[in-house]
Amino acid sequence: MKETPKAKYGRILLKLSGEAIGGESGIGISPEAIQDMAQQIREVRDLGVQVVVVVGGGNIFRGLPGSERGIERATGDYMGMLATVINALALQDALEKLGVATRVQSAISMAQVAEAFIRRRAVRHLEKGRVVIFGGGTGNPYFSTDTAAALRANEIGAEVILKATKVDGIYDCDPKKNPKAKRYSQITYLEALQRQLKVMDSTAFSLCMDNKMPIIVFELFRPHNLRKVVLGEKVGTLVTG
Ligand code: UDP
Repeated sequence: MKETPKAKYGRILLKLSGEAIGGESGIGISPEAIQDMAQQIREVRDLGVQVVVVVGGGNIFRGLPGSERGIERATGDYMGMLATVINALALQDALEKLGVATRVQSAISMAQVAEAFIRRRAVRHLEKGRVVIFGGGTGNPYFSTDTAAALRANEIGAEVILKATKVDGIYDCDPKKNPKAKRYSQITYLEALQRQLKVMDSTAFSLCMDNKMPIIVFELFRPHNLRKVVLGEKVGTLVTG
């Protein structure tokens, strides 16, 4: 019988941006992107890893650009938070179709579609092997889903935040503009700050730094990349203390 390889982490938090959920265009919900994500999540769940997902909403709505077009900032932010719940439901649907048990917990009450966020309950779901998807961000305007990821990772005792992006890690400059851009395989929080590398927004980043929560930035849309990260292979960029 083939032995299951040993995962490096027991409990992970995967941050999926709205842009990634939007696939190629980054807008709306791409069925192919969602299915690919679900497939990769199932692969790591099958390694026995407890998986929490925080979904973004930028593929549908972002508060700040909305406010520049005349919507009150807080209202726009609530619209953005609701957008993340739509994404959470789409991911839940794709995962359940693959036979993965899931629960969606929302930071904004909406009892008909999602459980409320209850930390101990989320942990219990994880222990039972369910994938827990957090929607609604932090539930507060003026925050981001990266901050929600940093907050929830600490709250539920995740060992690492895996930030899935469209680029394969953190570079010293924009690899799309400069072909000589260098990718870091590992970097400290302080170096990232000093070099002004935008890993996450400053609220999210400082929450990780203050609590020594490692972040791995990696490209999701490469076959089995999430599994590789979880198995400890050198994929993407690791940010630590
Ligand atoms: N948002 C918020 N509070 C939160 C999380 C998100 O107000 O705790 C709003 C904010 O307007 C943000 C939008 O929801 O622009 C979508 O989230 P985000 O931009 O973080 O999504 P991503 O960039 O990951 O797609």
